[in-house]
Amino acid sequence: MQTCSKCNAQSADTSAQCKSCNADLSIYSTTAVALKNFTGNSRVRNIRLVVSGNACPVCATYEGTYAKDAVPGLPIEGCSNPEGCHCFYEPMLTELYP
Ligand SMILES: [Zn+2]
Ligand SMILES: [Zn+2]
Repeated sequence: MQTCSKCNAQSADTSAQCKSCNADLSIYSTTAVALKNFTGNSRVRNIRLVVSGNACPVCATYEGTYAKDAVPGLPIEGCSNPEGCHCFYEPMLTELYP
């Protein structure tokens, strides 16, 4: 499932565009926007790909911490969860106690 950051409508993982406002989901999905913010933030050292508890086996293999330039795109290609991919990104900060 992809959520549009512009209008909050949900579209299927396979949709390239928001079904409500036609925004390009490779740029404007909430996960794509989050990834862009994290990669552009100098305080973010690495990016963690978090899978939900009921993630499919495909997604589970992607769980882990990645360098900013090596983060897999979301939704995970080949996700077999019937409700769609629920993976998300989490920033790993350089300083935990600024
Ligand atoms: Zn939209
Ligand atoms: Zn999956």
